[in-house]
Amino acid sequence: MPVAAPPPPRTPVAWRRPAATLLLAAALLAPAARAEDAPAPAARAEDAPAPVVRTGVAGCRRVALTFDLCPVRAPYGYDAKLVERLVATKTPATFFASGRWMAKHDDRVAELLAVPFFELGTHGAAHAHLRTMDAGAQEEEIAAAIALLAAKRGTSPTLFRPPYGEYDTTTQRVAAALGQTVVLWSAVSGDPSPASSAEVMLHSLRPQLRDGAIVIMHANGRGVHTQALLEKLLLAIAAAGLTPVTVGELLRPCPDATAS
Ligand SMILES: [Zn+2]
Repeated sequence: MPVAAPPPPRTPVAWRRPAATLLLAAALLAPAARAEDAPAPAARAEDAPAPVVRTGVAGCRRVALTFDLCPVRAPYGYDAKLVERLVATKTPATFFASGRWMAKHDDRVAELLAVPFFELGTHGAAHAHLRTMDAGAQEEEIAAAIALLAAKRGTSPTLFRPPYGEYDTTTQRVAAALGQTVVLWSAVSGDPSPASSAEVMLHSLRPQLRDGAIVIMHANGRGVHTQALLEKLLLAIAAAGLTPVTVGELLRPCPDATAS
């Protein structure tokens, strides 16, 4: 389960392997970065770290449902029924697709992009452990999935979810240079575990359904009970007076914030 992330440092911090444990500890202990503190991409210095968000802007009762598309060993890995339910219920959702997954599911990428209330971010090329990699290798891992979408679909994704939620200051600098916001989560479904029923997952998720929460689930077929969870989750979200939005929208100010 992820815990709080550090606020972005003002100056770049050199990444050295002996300091890895200390940096990791600092990352685990520091307070969460606030989405509203994130600088606009155009204003970032080239080597400034990208913002890391676990929650969005609170104050207007919104939550973001996110679905990772991690690579699968089987030839096919796509929860079509889950996505059909999202479409049928007009539920905004954000998908994070890995390069390997996209390479096997080109038709599905097109389908997801065609839904106006869906949003597509990236999830690394090979779903690698970024903290074990140097800057060049991290850049390759992050940029390849972005480049694939740009080349094949003409889109420019700006949201990046690091595989396993693992990142370091190098990841943040590389992500910033690629115009990315690093998106983690605040509410864990645990849906890859086949032993977890929809009821059990909802029970643990319900108290995490807070204003501005980001929920992580999977749409690559690994979540055996994800679709059943979705049905219950949508009811729980409505009962809590929350509205699902995409991550991109959740990171923007409340629609009525400027009204006076
Ligand atoms: Zn993943």
